Amino acid sequence: MADNTDKVEDSVEGAFYVDSNCIDCDLCRQTAPENFERNEDEGYTFVNKQPADDDEEQACRDAMEECPTEAIGDDG
Ligand code: SF4
Repeated sequence: MADNTDKVEDSVEGAFYVDSNCIDCDLCRQTAPENFERNEDEGYTFVNKQPADDDEEQACRDAMEECPTEAIGDDG
Protein backbone atom coordinates (compact mmCIF):
# COMPACT_ATOMS: atom_id res chain seq x y z
CA MET A 1 0.00 0.00 0.00
CA ALA A 2 1.31 3.40 -0.98
CA ASP A 3 2.38 5.80 1.77
CA ASN A 4 1.01 9.33 1.49
CA THR A 5 3.78 10.61 3.76
CA ASP A 6 6.37 9.39 1.25
CA LYS A 7 5.19 10.96 -2.02
CA VAL A 8 7.70 11.58 -4.78
CA GLU A 9 8.46 15.16 -5.66
CA ASP A 10 6.65 16.84 -8.55
CA SER A 11 3.26 15.26 -7.90
CA VAL A 12 0.36 17.63 -8.20
CA GLU A 13 -2.02 18.07 -5.27
CA GLY A 14 -4.99 15.74 -5.18
CA ALA A 15 -6.18 12.21 -4.58
CA PHE A 16 -3.72 10.19 -6.64
CA TYR A 17 0.00 10.14 -5.90
CA VAL A 18 3.15 8.02 -6.31
CA ASP A 19 5.45 7.18 -3.42
CA SER A 20 9.16 6.37 -3.31
CA ASN A 21 8.60 2.65 -4.00
CA CYS A 22 8.28 3.46 -7.72
CA ILE A 23 10.78 1.45 -9.77
CA ASP A 24 10.09 3.41 -12.95
CA CYS A 25 8.66 0.40 -14.80
CA ASP A 26 6.51 2.53 -17.15
CA LEU A 27 3.28 0.57 -16.65
CA CYS A 28 1.20 3.39 -15.21
CA ARG A 29 2.39 5.76 -17.92
CA GLN A 30 1.07 3.35 -20.52
CA THR A 31 -2.21 2.74 -18.69
CA ALA A 32 -2.93 6.36 -17.76
CA PRO A 33 -0.73 8.50 -20.02
CA GLU A 34 -2.71 11.66 -19.30
CA ASN A 35 -2.02 11.46 -15.59
CA PHE A 36 1.42 9.95 -15.04
CA GLU A 37 4.73 11.33 -16.25
CA ARG A 38 8.37 10.32 -15.92
CA ASN A 39 10.92 12.46 -14.15
CA GLU A 40 13.65 11.90 -16.74
CA ASP A 41 16.48 13.15 -14.53
CA GLU A 42 15.67 11.15 -11.42
CA GLY A 43 14.05 8.07 -12.98
CA TYR A 44 10.72 7.87 -11.26
CA THR A 45 7.10 8.55 -12.14
CA PHE A 46 4.82 11.17 -10.65
CA VAL A 47 1.21 12.28 -11.06
CA ASN A 48 1.30 15.24 -13.42
CA LYS A 49 -2.47 15.73 -13.56
CA GLN A 50 -5.32 14.45 -11.43
CA PRO A 51 -8.08 12.69 -13.43
CA ALA A 52 -10.40 15.14 -15.17
CA ASP A 53 -13.19 12.74 -16.11
CA ASP A 54 -14.50 9.23 -15.47
CA ASP A 55 -12.24 7.66 -18.11
CA GLU A 56 -9.12 9.15 -16.58
CA GLU A 57 -10.30 8.23 -13.10
CA GLN A 58 -10.72 4.61 -14.20
CA ALA A 59 -7.33 4.64 -15.93
CA CYS A 60 -5.70 5.86 -12.71
CA ARG A 61 -7.44 3.15 -10.71
CA ASP A 62 -6.29 0.53 -13.24
CA ALA A 63 -2.74 1.86 -12.99
CA MET A 64 -2.92 1.68 -9.21
CA GLU A 65 -3.97 -1.97 -9.36
CA GLU A 66 -1.31 -2.85 -11.92
CA CYS A 67 1.63 -1.16 -10.22
CA PRO A 68 4.05 -3.97 -9.27
CA THR A 69 5.34 -2.20 -6.15
CA GLU A 70 2.03 -0.70 -4.96
CA ALA A 71 3.59 2.75 -5.26
CA ILE A 72 0.39 4.45 -6.41
CA GLY A 73 -2.04 5.70 -3.81
CA ASP A 74 -5.50 7.24 -3.81
CA ASP A 75 -6.59 9.49 -0.96
CA GLY A 76 -9.84 10.39 -2.69
S1 SF4 B 1 3.51 1.35 -12.30
FE1 SF4 B 1 4.30 1.78 -10.24
S2 SF4 B 1 6.47 1.22 -10.31
FE2 SF4 B 1 5.75 1.37 -12.41
S3 SF4 B 1 6.28 3.46 -13.05
FE3 SF4 B 1 4.16 3.49 -12.27
S4 SF4 B 1 4.32 4.03 -10.10
FE4 SF4 B 1 6.36 3.39 -10.79
